[in-house]
Amino acid sequence: MNRYRIAAIPGDGIGVEVIAAGIEVLDRLAARDGGFAFDFEHFDWGTDHYKRHGVMMPADGLARIRHHDAIFFGAVGAPDVPDHVTLWGLRLAICQPFDQYANVRPTRVLPGIESPLRRVKPGDLDWVIVRENSEGEYAGHGGRSHKGLPEEVATDVSVFTRAGVARIMRFAFALARSRPRRHLTVVTKSNAQRHAMVMWDDIAAEVAAEFPDVCWDKMLVDAMTMRMTLRPETLDTIVATNLHADILSDLAAALAGSLGIAPTANLNPERSFPSMFEPIHGSAFDIAGKGIANPVGTFWTSTLMLDHLGEPEAARRLMRAIEQVTADEGLHTPDLGGRATTREVTDAVIAAIEGDNE
Ligand code: NAD
Ligand code: MN
Repeated sequence: MNRYRIAAIPGDGIGVEVIAAGIEVLDRLAARDGGFAFDFEHFDWGTDHYKRHGVMMPADGLARIRHHDAIFFGAVGAPDVPDHVTLWGLRLAICQPFDQYANVRPTRVLPGIESPLRRVKPGDLDWVIVRENSEGEYAGHGGRSHKGLPEEVATDVSVFTRAGVARIMRFAFALARSRPRRHLTVVTKSNAQRHAMVMWDDIAAEVAAEFPDVCWDKMLVDAMTMRMTLRPETLDTIVATNLHADILSDLAAALAGSLGIAPTANLNPERSFPSMFEPIHGSAFDIAGKGIANPVGTFWTSTLMLDHLGEPEAARRLMRAIEQVTADEGLHTPDLGGRATTREVTDAVIAAIEGDNE
């Protein structure tokens, strides 16, 4: 039997609630399957840790999760600590050293969920956004001088390397090739940002030559927001920079019904380091502690983790259970306009797993 060692880092706010639900579902799924099991190890890193020790995670934190098979992450962020402290102190402190350069975000309108787009039909909106996750606008370079003075200057410098762009482009073309439509849209802002974004376009064209069976096009990021909204059926796989894809994927999540549903994987495709799986939402302190966080984003994320671990059958079973539950409006949490609780949705997903005879 395969045993998977998973580092669980629930973090803050509803991160704790949805990761607890995710672990419960994953354990029941493993029991139902019988062919594999999980050993979850918990790490209570996050804002409370920061308030007690002055750091979001201990100094040897990376070494302690280095050899796990995957990282199952909730969310970070609290009202009384600056967001850049929590983000750079934990989430990016893991993504960057573990070289999780491919951030993959599937988006689809699940059964029973209403898209805010009036005319969208099932199947019209079925995208995977690939976000460059290691450099670009979030490379961390820059600074502030003359703080508070009239002559103050601040910079956040985008850094793009040929190696970094080529590897994410190859990853995106390969992913596009694995999907039925074999279509990739490359997003830039190469009209205004005339150095890095033009290099991005050049590399896209070079890599495209290695994938003659993938049909691809280019979009400027501003026009892309319109295309996503007005002609969603023309898109399939999408690749964009760290900042652009960050923004586009929140739009995508909203167009697919709710941020509470959206999943993501931070992959180190070479498997030199563990990959990290998390719902795309944050700690949502406006609803934390109320028991109404939508756990579906974490369950969908769990299917990505199962695929990565090499358990595609269990991933498909969990996805069927999720879709059976979203199809029932009585099981929608308040973010979807319903009144169901995290507990009720979790129980319904477990019941669907146990009733699945495929
Ligand atoms: P958020 O995603 O936490 O919440 C945005 C809105 O969506 C809120 O109204 C929230 O109630 C709702 N929402 C989000 N997830 C939900 C779910 N699962 N079920 C039901 N409703 C849900 O984003 P925000 O409010 O901009 O940020 C809150 C904190 O989270 C900040 O500190 C921010 O820095 C942090 N954050 C962290 C991550 C991360 O850890 N990856 C991502 C985004 C934001
Ligand atoms: Mn974001």
